[in-house]
Amino acid sequence: MEAIMRNLFLTMAKSQTANRLAKRYGLRFGAQRFVAGESIKHAVKTTQQLNDQGLKVTLDHLGESVYTRDEAAQATADCIQTLDVVKEANLDMYLSIKLTQLGLDIDENLCYDHARKIVSRAAENGYFVRIDMEDYAHNATTFRLFHKLHAEFPNQIGLAIQACLHKSKQDLAELGKKGVNVRLVKGAYKESSEVAFPDKTDVDKQFIDLLEQHLTSGSFTAIATHDETVIHHIKQFIEKQDIPKERYEFQMLYGIRTQLQLNLVKEGYPVRVYVPFGTDWYAYFMRRLAERPANVSFVLRSMFKK
Ligand code: FAD
Repeated sequence: MEAIMRNLFLTMAKSQTANRLAKRYGLRFGAQRFVAGESIKHAVKTTQQLNDQGLKVTLDHLGESVYTRDEAAQATADCIQTLDVVKEANLDMYLSIKLTQLGLDIDENLCYDHARKIVSRAAENGYFVRIDMEDYAHNATTFRLFHKLHAEFPNQIGLAIQACLHKSKQDLAELGKKGVNVRLVKGAYKESSEVAFPDKTDVDKQFIDLLEQHLTSGSFTAIATHDETVIHHIKQFIEKQDIPKERYEFQMLYGIRTQLQLNLVKEGYPVRVYVPFGTDWYAYFMRRLAERPANVSFVLRSMFKK
């Protein structure tokens, strides 16, 4: 049943019509639990509150699967505005971006120009940019553009790698050699068994292997998970291997396992929270429901709340 629900939400995440309606009608159905708000003002307020609790932040100006040049240019301008506003407010954060939001499905060169503008402004303002990893259909192009940007801005840009993919072990080995700052995740998209492990046990196993591999590569590792078993294992691994705090951080999503985030801070671990904001919340929200179909209960509650 859980697998059916997961597939249903991941399929729903791709609906352009539902996405358009969601944008028009605003944050609904309990999405506020996972999304900081629709405007940059909300993002700044949330970042400030999290920073005050000792949590670092990565901001995601929500958006993906953009198919017009105007929308891709607007998304680029929004990301640049975000970098300017947070600098003005002197906030501790970095930016996460998705290449399909910047026009990857329209024209690879256009997307590169947009991403380059964002990373240049981040460099000027002293911020770091992480490219999120989207579905497998965009994996090769994401790598291509990442390598181009990384060659020019080696200290300003990092990438996310998904443990669910067979190819990730090899990809990570190459990124480790280049000293790339990597965020490791299990993977949030529906993929075919030709390219990804269909069984969650295998994903969990590869996730631990990849975390250990990158932590010992000498490069920076963002351990992005809410899985307490993994976190417990990695805490012991870090201690045993004597990995300094400058070389890793735990990362979690806004609205998920909030107490666990604060507990890690209390124990002295570096923790960063991924804070999405904006009107394009629908697909992101569907993926959060897919990860834990039990979340549907609060969607239902929010629908019947006056
Ligand atoms: P799971 O085994 O799925 O979950 C472990 C426990 O965490 C669950 O038992 C539950 O208690 C809690 N939990 C997990 N998800 C939820 C939820 N939605 N609601 C409530 N509780 C939950 N994926 C990508 O494909 N590309 C990316 O670029 C990407 N970036 C990410 C950045 C960050 C900072 C994080 C934390 C995740 C990111 N993801 C990304 C999502 C990731 O791939 C997983 O889908 C997600 O993190 C759930 O996996 P988990 O590691 O928490 O483990």
